[in-house]
Amino acid sequence: GERTRVHVPEAIETVLALIQHKLGDRIVVERDLTGRTEIHCTPALLNQVVMNILGNAADAMPEGGTIRIETRAAPETDLIRISDTGPGIPEVLREKIFEPFFTTKPVGSGTGLGLAIAYSVVQAHSGSLSVEAAAGGGACFVIGIPRQTG
Ligand code: ADP
Ligand code: MG
Repeated sequence: GERTRVHVPEAIETVLALIQHKLGDRIVVERDLTGRTEIHCTPALLNQVVMNILGNAADAMPEGGTIRIETRAAPETDLIRISDTGPGIPEVLREKIFEPFFTTKPVGSGTGLGLAIAYSVVQAHSGSLSVEAAAGGGACFVIGIPRQTG
């Protein structure tokens, strides 16, 4: 799709409203969206990618927890970091989770496609999508979008 200027805090609030039924009252969402507020991308990038990552975070914290969403500006890239206080992802699985059909969820509850789709959407923007351990041991997904040049 067409790239346009997407206002990140607004886009994130839209996705949070769509997924609120999955977060319920048990999950607290913290926001630090003080980095660059606009990035150059197709609206689908934020919607699809952020939606899939937030859905997984909710799945990882059935008893509740905290999701933290931060925007950061690196020299040539705008970053969106989404971390949770769930059990995290074992290091040996951190590459596998981006493969189509990889899931650890019970049959019928996970397709294993969410992160594969997110990865290809980000790649179509020449961006990056990676996962690391959050400070408290949960998962931290980092979306990197190259800044518009020229
Ligand atoms: P699905 O959600 O259908 O399983 P995904 O591609 O969205 O497929 O995710 C693949 C797998 O990555 C999940 O089954 C889970 O094992 C792991 N995963 C993704 N996000 C998280 C998270 N926030 N915490 C723990 N594990 C996660
Ligand atoms: Mg998923």
